Amino acid sequence: MSSQDNHENDIEKAENGQVEETKNHDDEYEKICFVCRRPETVTGKMIDLPNGISICSDCMQKSFDAMMSGQIDYSQLMNMNIPGVQILNMTDMEKNIPKKQKVKKKKEGEEKKPLIDIRNIPAPHKIKGKLDEYVVGQEYAKKAMSVAVYNHYKRVATGTMDEIEIEKSNMLMIGPTGSGKTYLVKTLARLLDVPLAITDATSLTEAGYIGDDIESVVSKLLAAAGNDVEKAEQGIIFIDEIDKIAKKKNTNQRDVSGESVQQGMLKLLEGSEVEVPVGANSKNAMVPLTTVNTKNILFICGGAFPDLDMIIKERLTKQSSIGFGAELKDRYDHDKTILEKVATEDLRSFGMIPEFLGRLPIVFTLRGLSEEMLIKILKEPKNAILKQYQKLLALDEVKLEFDDGALSAIAKKAMKKDTGARALRAIIEEFMLDIMYEIPKDDSIGQVTITREYIEGTGGPLIMLRGQEPARIE
Ligand code: ADP
Repeated sequence: MSSQDNHENDIEKAENGQVEETKNHDDEYEKICFVCRRPETVTGKMIDLPNGISICSDCMQKSFDAMMSGQIDYSQLMNMNIPGVQILNMTDMEKNIPKKQKVKKKKEGEEKKPLIDIRNIPAPHKIKGKLDEYVVGQEYAKKAMSVAVYNHYKRVATGTMDEIEIEKSNMLMIGPTGSGKTYLVKTLARLLDVPLAITDATSLTEAGYIGDDIESVVSKLLAAAGNDVEKAEQGIIFIDEIDKIAKKKNTNQRDVSGESVQQGMLKLLEGSEVEVPVGANSKNAMVPLTTVNTKNILFICGGAFPDLDMIIKERLTKQSSIGFGAELKDRYDHDKTILEKVATEDLRSFGMIPEFLGRLPIVFTLRGLSEEMLIKILKEPKNAILKQYQKLLALDEVKLEFDDGALSAIAKKAMKKDTGARALRAIIEEFMLDIMYEIPKDDSIGQVTITREYIEGTGGPLIMLRGQEPARIE
């Protein structure tokens, strides 16, 4: 064989290899019926037509029936030249369904390995240790969460245990805005490497009403898992502002976004098979559907529950005003930890229905952030805001420092805004804009120190030129 022949053979092999590779890749996706848009797992084996089109046997049968009964005469239809009517050409259909709307097949036959191997689930103290690197304070919340997550994924890995079935560890987080609820969940999902969907309960309504229906949260999770059903089934769904779906008091209208959303969520929380649209938010004729089981999905609900402290206070004073142990009415007025005394009955008085609460067995609270905690948040976590700015300026070989006075001034300003740690970034961005604009202009600047005076608007930052003594810029 000549060397040219060899070369040609190689090319051919390479081409074949490529074809095989694409084929294998396509094999990972489910076929979708071209007519009714259902996936193969629902319809049963499909019939393949040219150009990558598949039709389920139901739809095929229906078309045959229609043809046989003489309802449609296709040959005539094709020959007729009806103005304004276009007969679909198979090659037009070739444009396949976008990948975004395809569902990854569940791997059958292969032994199913849990995403997080039971032997590899880190013990709760290790999970908390990791959380500590990112989340400041909130010790109780981190501990409760680590144990719940540990138990949850242990349960997932074990599958159903004989007679003793471990209950799902869905959680309810109560804490003021900006105290780190969303941040905790995000950090956790990233550490565990599981998909996460975040939804706002206020956007949810009972199916059929304006708004997202409840099952759309599962659809979001599926998207976060790259349409991989298996992965999504072990993910986390975080529903924020859950207090906004409390039962409305004294209303005669149908409560489509309150109590009925709670009712609608019961099945999801507990575990059920949900038919969700793939690659879209709502079910419609053009979107393929797939089934997701929520049995192993961890649901975390969070909310600020305003005025819940009043309800708790009322209960506590009522209890203690009976009998000899009667206490003063204002005993709890200055109790900063009052939220931590929350009981299911308080949440019920708030407007959450008992069945809903029953499906969120783990309830814990987050504290409002103090000035000290805000200072720590500024500088301690692995990806602290100050560290981010320091890194940015370090790229220009400029050292950025914040003196202690500056940190406490920033924290004080943030405390006034009453939006927790969320205010920090806004405040810092405001004054860092000038710094980030001015400093790179001048190559000779080697170090910038942000001072209390600069934050309070009474002075400037301390600038040090390369190889010089610090000088104050006014
Ligand atoms: P919410 O409780 O309203 O969901 P978030 O989790 O959205 O609050 O917090 C807003 C931001 O504040 C987060 O992105 C995070 O950067 C920061 N943050 C809040 N609490 C903490 C905390 N305890 N430790 C570190 N950063 C925090």
